[in-house]
Amino acid sequence: MPISVFDLFTVGIGPSSSHTVGPMRAAASFVDLVGDRTEDVAALEVDVYGSLAATGRGHGTFDAILLGLEGCRPDEVLPDEVDERTARMAESGIVRFGDRVEIPFAVADMRQRPLTVLERHTNALELRARTATGEELAHEIYYSVGGGFVVTQSDEEAAVLGTEAGESAREPATPHDFRTGDELLEIANREGLEVWQVMLANELGAGRTEQEVRDGLLHIAKVMEECAAHSLDRSGHLPGGLSVRRRAHDWHLRLKEEDPDRDPRYYQEWVNLVALAVNEENASGGRVVTAPTNGAAGIIPAVLHYALNYVDWVQEGGDAARDEATVRFLLTAGAIGVLYKEGASISGAEVGCQGEVGSASSMAAGGLAEVLGGSVEQVENAAEIAMEHNLGLTCDPIAGLVQVPCIERNAIGAGKSINAAKMAMWGDGDHYVSLDEVIATMKATGADMSDKYKETAMGGLAVNVVEC
Ligand code: SF4
Repeated sequence: MPISVFDLFTVGIGPSSSHTVGPMRAAASFVDLVGDRTEDVAALEVDVYGSLAATGRGHGTFDAILLGLEGCRPDEVLPDEVDERTARMAESGIVRFGDRVEIPFAVADMRQRPLTVLERHTNALELRARTATGEELAHEIYYSVGGGFVVTQSDEEAAVLGTEAGESAREPATPHDFRTGDELLEIANREGLEVWQVMLANELGAGRTEQEVRDGLLHIAKVMEECAAHSLDRSGHLPGGLSVRRRAHDWHLRLKEEDPDRDPRYYQEWVNLVALAVNEENASGGRVVTAPTNGAAGIIPAVLHYALNYVDWVQEGGDAARDEATVRFLLTAGAIGVLYKEGASISGAEVGCQGEVGSASSMAAGGLAEVLGGSVEQVENAAEIAMEHNLGLTCDPIAGLVQVPCIERNAIGAGKSINAAKMAMWGDGDHYVSLDEVIATMKATGADMSDKYKETAMGGLAVNVVEC
């Protein structure tokens, strides 16, 4: 099944797409699997494997599974409802399976197996439902493969559960099937299309109207903006026990005073602000757009903020130009994201942070190059530069929380995106390393990377910084 831009940008909750959104989605899908026999369920068995178990506490994985078992879906559940349900389940030790049947089951009943890595992917979750007599009603193994994508043991690799793509009945009539950068360039040049137009044609081929695609992307951008705005209203410390201070609130007050007229000299501070705000919201379990993961959710909103506020034609064209720039930016970023999903991975547990922050940075660089008027070669070059200088980036969050280094790393990733797009625009699109080569290198680097640096909280900053 072709990957849609709406698979790569989904509305969910923090703090992690692979460790929160994916497990919740998997558990909710399990409720669907039981289906008509929900009333017969008397007992649940949950096994959590690999990285999901190793960093599940800090990532909210176990609560996310319980919420999914109650039928909650990450794109629908609101943060207040999460808090209410989580508190009730913790106090009572009872899960309302499918929001209908009360079953004694708590986090302590989950079998956590951090050292057991199933062959297909380290983020694995095994669910069983039984009747009062012990009969097995349903059994499934789910893999949370990054970005909120979930596949089951029996699925084809590209199958997606619960995202818009998985729920829709679209026909796979992709007019421009591409899986590599070279294929994307060849199609664009042959058809005389920009990258965003190639992606748009594929969305239309999947059964959506152009208006639906545009409305959907503007909705995604609006949720990104609301996420940052909500975060800017919140001061104090992030949850989780590290006492990490929220910085975006105070920085916003200072920026509004120092830069009331949006002097371009302050662009970096505003970009940093948006990245921090989104990731602080993510770290506190708020509503975010997975882009393409939650840990890296701040980069694309931050670079989009730059595109909408510091590019002349967008500034001068009013609301219509802002909408057009948003649509082109997100479609282009989505096309680049397809290349990472197809050719490597966007999962920190699989390839380290280069797959999360690196992929997001590359997608944002491509999107910005498009808005800056780049050719298809310059867009490809921008995406390549951004990933080339994220190669080898490890994942080692302190205490398994998506806070340090993740929040700040998004601001740095956004800065790289803008620089990469500018460098590509100063060139003519001709460059030494292709995007496909850098994606292949990222995948190989991830395969060579020690598991200590792949979302296990067993290496790097996670062990060298004393928690206080
Ligand atoms: S270090 Fe990177 S990959 Fe790891 S949790 Fe943080 S943002 Fe995600």
